[in-house]
Amino acid sequence: TTTTAADLEKLQVLGHGNGGTVYKVRHKHTSAIYALKVVHGDGDPTVRRQVFREIEILRRTDSPFVVQCHGMFEKPCGDIAILMEYMDSGTLDSVLKGRGKFSERSLAGVAKQVLNGLNYLHSHKIVHRDIKPSNLLVNNKMEVKIADFGVSKIMCRTLDPCNSYVGTCAYMSPERFDPDTYGANYNGYAADIWSLGLTLMELYMGHFPFLPPGQRPDWATLMCAICFGEPPSLPEGSEKFRSFIECCLQKDSGKRWSASQLLTHPFVSISNSN
Ligand code: ATP
Ligand code: MG
Repeated sequence: TTTTAADLEKLQVLGHGNGGTVYKVRHKHTSAIYALKVVHGDGDPTVRRQVFREIEILRRTDSPFVVQCHGMFEKPCGDIAILMEYMDSGTLDSVLKGRGKFSERSLAGVAKQVLNGLNYLHSHKIVHRDIKPSNLLVNNKMEVKIADFGVSKIMCRTLDPCNSYVGTCAYMSPERFDPDTYGANYNGYAADIWSLGLTLMELYMGHFPFLPPGQRPDWATLMCAICFGEPPSLPEGSEKFRSFIECCLQKDSGKRWSASQLLTHPFVSISNSN
């Protein structure tokens, strides 16, 4: 049988995104707990397009490193809802704000899981395009899963420049601003690796790498820093970690390592030894 809105009891609001709200819900018959993302049907058409894109991608994915989707439905009022696996520790962003900076060892575990997720997505021709701490969900087993496919893209057979300004500007790679200079072997997938590199640095340093602590990003300054500056590098940390970050943050997308290559990097195996 298919789940409908009437089968679910809303318990609390987990978060607000643009155009929608995510609730913690309980299935009335099975008592199972889920997250329910509800997007208003009468809202912005861009937001509606994004939710259909997200549904399309969640339908195609089945990986322990990608948030699981348990169904979707349209409510009589036109709202669109996606029923997802509930991740009880929130996002890596909220974990950072709550528990403080991450150790190298825990980041090796994060890196390994996100890379497994990206390797899965990329081998299914999906580019996420918005990898950042607030789109990576965590549960109490410290499992990390990729979520929020609103601006993701399914690559076609033809080379797709995939170059529209979607996602969160701060985490965008140099070749997405300037494909002629930095996109020699432009493939789109490498942009997710850049975003992962910045995400891991942010979780380690406690602030966004291109900006001093507490400073709010401004679009033009950031774009200049990303395109004309040196890629950020870790101010401290082990040789393995620094090397890993360097492999992710190659400005030339052709030199950047792929998800499957990074899974063999010595930094990732640190997480096995605990
Ligand atoms: P943002 O712009 O912050 O990325 P968004 O519109 O893209 O928001 P989501 O990222 O899908 O929307 O969800 C918004 C918030 O709801 C998340 O930041 C997270 O706190 C919470 N959330 C989403 N999905 C889940 C889930 N499966 N389990 C637990 N919490 C979730
Ligand atoms: Mg999000």
